Amino acid sequence: MMTQYLALKDEAEDCLLFYRMGDFFELFFGDAQKASAVLNIALTTRGEHDGAPVPMCGVPVHSAEGYLARLIRAGCRVAIAEQVETPEEAKKRGGSKALVKRDIVRFVTAGTLTEEALLEPRSANILAAICTIRGQCGVAACDISTGQMMLEECDPQSLDAALARIGANEVVAPEEWESAPDEAILRPRSDFSSDGGEERLRRLHDVATLDGFGEFSKPMLAAAGGLIAYLDHVGRGTLPLLLPPVAHSGTAALAMDAATRSSLEILQSQQGQRKGSLLAAIDRCVTGAGARQLAEDLAAPLCDQQAISRRLGLVAYFHDDALRRGDVRDLLRGLPDIGRALGRVAAGRGSPRDLGQLRDGLRDAQRLYDQLASLPDKPEMLEALLPALTGHGALTDLFARALVASPPTERNQGGYIAEGFDEALDELRSVSGNARRAIAALEARYREETGVSSLKIKHNGVLGYFIEVPSRHADALMAADSGFTHRQTMASAVRFNSLHLHEEASRIAEAGGRALAAEEAHFEYLVEQAALSGRAIADSAAALARIDVAAGQAERAAQGDWCQPDIVEDRSLAISGGRHPVVEDALSSRGERFVANDCTLTQTDRLWLIGGPNMGGKSTFLRQNALIVLLAQAGGYVPATSAKIGLVDRLFSRVGASDNLARGRSTFMVEMVETAAILLQASERSFVILDEVGRGTSTYDGLALAWAVVEAVHEQIGCRCLFATHYHELSRLAESCDSLSLHHVRAREWKGDLVLLHELAEGAADRSYGLAVARLAGVPKAVVARAGQVLGKLEKGRAETGGLAAGLGELPLFAAAAEAQEEQCDTLRERLQSVDVDSLSPREALDLLYELKSEA
Ligand code: ADP
Repeated sequence: MMTQYLALKDEAEDCLLFYRMGDFFELFFGDAQKASAVLNIALTTRGEHDGAPVPMCGVPVHSAEGYLARLIRAGCRVAIAEQVETPEEAKKRGGSKALVKRDIVRFVTAGTLTEEALLEPRSANILAAICTIRGQCGVAACDISTGQMMLEECDPQSLDAALARIGANEVVAPEEWESAPDEAILRPRSDFSSDGGEERLRRLHDVATLDGFGEFSKPMLAAAGGLIAYLDHVGRGTLPLLLPPVAHSGTAALAMDAATRSSLEILQSQQGQRKGSLLAAIDRCVTGAGARQLAEDLAAPLCDQQAISRRLGLVAYFHDDALRRGDVRDLLRGLPDIGRALGRVAAGRGSPRDLGQLRDGLRDAQRLYDQLASLPDKPEMLEALLPALTGHGALTDLFARALVASPPTERNQGGYIAEGFDEALDELRSVSGNARRAIAALEARYREETGVSSLKIKHNGVLGYFIEVPSRHADALMAADSGFTHRQTMASAVRFNSLHLHEEASRIAEAGGRALAAEEAHFEYLVEQAALSGRAIADSAAALARIDVAAGQAERAAQGDWCQPDIVEDRSLAISGGRHPVVEDALSSRGERFVANDCTLTQTDRLWLIGGPNMGGKSTFLRQNALIVLLAQAGGYVPATSAKIGLVDRLFSRVGASDNLARGRSTFMVEMVETAAILLQASERSFVILDEVGRGTSTYDGLALAWAVVEAVHEQIGCRCLFATHYHELSRLAESCDSLSLHHVRAREWKGDLVLLHELAEGAADRSYGLAVARLAGVPKAVVARAGQVLGKLEKGRAETGGLAAGLGELPLFAAAAEAQEEQCDTLRERLQSVDVDSLSPREALDLLYELKSEA
């Protein structure tokens, strides 16, 4: 057995091996140690290997799914080694001592799950493959629980942003690729070839060319090849459902890098939870598929005005009519997850329950169609979605006739094919039904004949049917001519068989076996029929999800008094009465009120510098405006009284690193790397929020960097930007930057206490209220008083010397500084050009070099 085990383990080195032994999956050696720790189950030993006891733990097969889910969540991968023959077959093959053959039938990994129990209903489960071809990256991503597949090409610098958008649960990359992310699963290079990928896609969809699906570049195809090859590997040759790939165009979506996503807490809070995220604050979807679609929308908002308007049109349709919205949401509420049911069925892991879900879900889709199709004045998007909700009549009729009302998740007991669907099956069932009745009659007869009123006919898995009497009555049945044969003596009862019982039991077994086989055959047929309609079912699922998202957004907007944003082409941003949906929720749960604020950026006033005390609401204001842009471009309503939003191509959000030692020394480095990305990538269409950038270093460095960054954003990029800072000195930038204005969050000292008004006002902050904040935070009075004395001294010094900002008055303007540098370069370039290198002696060349260096 160990030999067999070790051979299987060789095939699954980086996985925990679940080794099937009867009713258990057993794990050995290091696997057992790891699994027992993660699952908190007993670690034992079994036998010896190389003279040492073998660590072992096990989980029952019938409850394996729950354990699998926990292992996957803990980042493990699992290989399932099943018994692929019965003990009888093994004996026939190799004699009584032969070992049952086992094979790895499947790898269970985070990105390749389809089981309902292992999946989060409201989150997508994404597998991504990435590679490079001639300097360009290919990305292929799929959610095999629903079959959706996306291909994308990007430059290497944008790969991280693409992966952040996709949010993959598992990433595959070619081995020996130095840029592969650390957590990636490495696969043979040969899997990632564009020709191979194209061929795999063609075969998968049985088409001669992929032209019908869109245009795919070589990097996209190579990544697709790597993805499908990996799925083939983990499924041991069985591929899951994969719908035709969709090409993702980088410019169609609002670009956000990983740092922006995490700082805006779009799908997850910074603690990595859904709670506290934007998604959690706005998700009112009533189906899992709707919630997944909403998450996808928020992860990749649109950049196309028309596409955004189409989505908004559908939200408005549900927003403006509460009754209609309620009806639709009521209907959707009970809807099964047909996308995922289809995923399981098509992957060959479907159950009768999944078929039942398809039947019920597609019927509901038809009902929704009937409800909506006849209404007047439907928005464009609804007109486009409606056809996908209908047309499954033949399939739902078939399933309605074939299946019982609530089919089970297991097939092995049968009983899921409805009566009246197949005469022969009904006949077999009546045979076993008759035999069961005959057995009940036998019990009554035997009681009478033996006079033992407590005689019972029972059934169990080992003996089958048997007759049981209490021990004290056993003698009568033991007699040689009684017609009963002894089978088993228990502590308080004795068990017998009889010829008649044996005959009836065989009838039940035979008819039962044949009935099971008949049901199995019907099941295969139904699965085939579902698979034939796979694309159409997936379309229905997508349409239902889209409708749920729109109705949910409308519900959220109605609850919070949100408004429909006006998306315009120019580069303005006019939000009045804007609010932060997450902070507002948190405040209102404590019974506090959120103070709404306006933000009006125009071409001539596009950079706002925002000062004011800590805790005054600067970060909240910055983020709420970024979130409003994001929500609007995702095609939803926004938390404001009105919002006019000039399309944004990229959104950047940066938070200055705090000097928090726990986060490591390199936080300032991270802050600068992230800031550099803005300066390199932002365009005049971008929207940038910078929160205390420069905070992570010494005061002088920080102020200098913040100064230069604001200037560069203002002069070079020209994008819309909100910049929160506690450096008063920055307000002097207003003198030289004409599209920059000063703002602050208001605060007041009242009877010695600091009152934060969370209200944005024009002009520079008059003072920082640092000591007042300290008092508010409970710093002892004596310390605050002492700080007051120190502050007095410092301020006096500042007044005398000009302080931190002394000398800034003489600083040339950003553009002038750049020009001066450029001029110097020109002179150097001219000098170099005029040199006749061949005519110089080595000595002269050296002198010239010294000379040039001193000038530079
Ligand atoms: P800052 O960035 O100025 O230090 P924050 O934006 O982090 O301040 O806000 C601090 C706290 O103040 C928030 O956690 C929130 O409770 C409250 N707050 C912020 N903005 C508002 C607002 N507009 N209305 C009400 N409370 C607010």
